[in-house]
Amino acid sequence: MGSGVTRTVAIVGAGAAGTLTAVNLLRRGDGPSRVVLIERSGTFGPGVAYSTTDERHRLNVVAERMSAFEDEPGHFADWAQRTVGPTAPGAYLPRAHFGAYLRDLLDAAERGARGRCRLERVVGEVVAVEPGSRGATAAEAVTAAAAFGAGDATTGAWGEAASADATGATVVFADGRRIAADDIVLALGSLPAARPSALPDDPRVIAAPWAPGALDEIGGDETSLLIGSGLTGVDVALSLCGRSDRSRAIAISRGGCLPYEHLPGVRAAVPAPELPAAPASADGVRNWLERHVRSMRGAGHDWREVVDGVRPHVPRLWQSLPPEEQRRFVREHGRAWELRRHRMAPESARRVRRLLDAGQLLVRAGRVVAVRALERNVEVLVAGDGDDLRTLRADRVVLCAGAGTDVRRASSPLLQGMLASGVASADPLSLGLRATPDGALLAADGTVQPHLHLLGPLRRGELWETTAMREIRNQAQTVAHAIAG
Ligand SMILES: Cc1cc2nc3c(=O)[nH]c(=O)nc-3n(C[C@H](O)[C@H](O)[C@H](O)COP(=O)(O)OP(=O)(O)OC[C@H]3O[C@@H](n4cnc5c(N)ncnc54)[C@H](O)[C@@H]3O)c2cc1C
Repeated sequence: MGSGVTRTVAIVGAGAAGTLTAVNLLRRGDGPSRVVLIERSGTFGPGVAYSTTDERHRLNVVAERMSAFEDEPGHFADWAQRTVGPTAPGAYLPRAHFGAYLRDLLDAAERGARGRCRLERVVGEVVAVEPGSRGATAAEAVTAAAAFGAGDATTGAWGEAASADATGATVVFADGRRIAADDIVLALGSLPAARPSALPDDPRVIAAPWAPGALDEIGGDETSLLIGSGLTGVDVALSLCGRSDRSRAIAISRGGCLPYEHLPGVRAAVPAPELPAAPASADGVRNWLERHVRSMRGAGHDWREVVDGVRPHVPRLWQSLPPEEQRRFVREHGRAWELRRHRMAPESARRVRRLLDAGQLLVRAGRVVAVRALERNVEVLVAGDGDDLRTLRADRVVLCAGAGTDVRRASSPLLQGMLASGVASADPLSLGLRATPDGALLAADGTVQPHLHLLGPLRRGELWETTAMREIRNQAQTVAHAIAG
């Protein structure tokens, strides 16, 4: 890019992924002259994971491993020491601190880029991306650059005049607004959890617990039935049961298990041995992993350190499986891997144990088959292992399932539209969208779209491991680099 021509980058989604892409672009000397960061929630930086204000909601990674920049590993831990106060080594800090960190990074990058690149925060829901319609001329771009230098360009004038070629795209908002850009970054986060058809449309049934204020109405003496007992179930239970010792939560999940917990402190990951040769099979990968864990445990390591050492190699392991074996891995071993990989902070585990001991939290195996909203409470029919059915009553039902797993069924008009028009294409398992290794979106006919970039959880089909900060910070840097050229 560094041709001196004025260029606009529009980033859809201002969670960690979109925000860090903006930060990387603003920090570069050769980046675009205008970055438009678009977010439907109106909050720029924390996204879904780090918007919580409940200090019981902890990061599930130690502060020392949550830096926004791979080449500055202590960046977040140092920020926390400066901003939050003394932080013990190996602390699992409240997620709200990480949200504040992301906001700070964006503000600092914006200040640092003054005169070179302008950041616009735009609130709205993007419903379509129209490629190839950038359409302004180089002469207009020069005019815009001059106007920016003079400091009197309006946002509208910028939006229409900042292009150098006709290869960009236009983002279209739900309210009809349009912004033309040379490059568009899609940082849309995870697919929303699929709403089970059993859930009635009733205010006492909460399908999106991370939506701002979703749990606010739940009183301190209510019993809530949580569908799911993973990390989201734990956080919701901690919030609700923390309101008073009369509040109760019953978490129902297929396995009836809580997440494993992290060992305290900063633990060194055990390096992985040579990976199985491609093409591998799902069972082959599982056996390889089991053998490795067994042998390292024999050598005195904890299994968590072994899993953490395998994690950086997961994309290669995943890509060594043909699609039908990937499907089998997800079906037969995916849950076991996820359970061991996504663990709760020791502090959360301590609180959970206290709630279990006090009888405030119950965790049961079962499958929710029907939910009925009655006048005084909500009735839930739960199927057990055999034919047994139990009826439970609760004041509230909260869906604490993980992210959705089928991009074709996602309720997002943007994703639906891009798939229908062929601008984007689903990966073979429909876990997300297809992209090149440096994040360029692949159209339905396989064409690489160098001006449409994808990062974050929607790259799951290609990488499997693509949701945590460690992956997202690297993708944000790679996408910014691809844009700057
Ligand atoms: C509860 C929870 C806790 C987690 N804890 C950790 C942790 O401790 N450590 C770790 O490494 N990872 C953690 N993660 C993983 C987490 O997914 C990533 O760290 C990261 O926050 C993902 O960021 P994102 O920007 O991809 O997604 P999001 O945070 O979901 O951001 C996407 C944003 O895009 C916006 N958006 C989507 N579509 C549109 C549209 N059409 N128009 C406009 N805006 C749109 C959404 O409103 C949203 O704000 C956690 C995840 C969750 C859910």
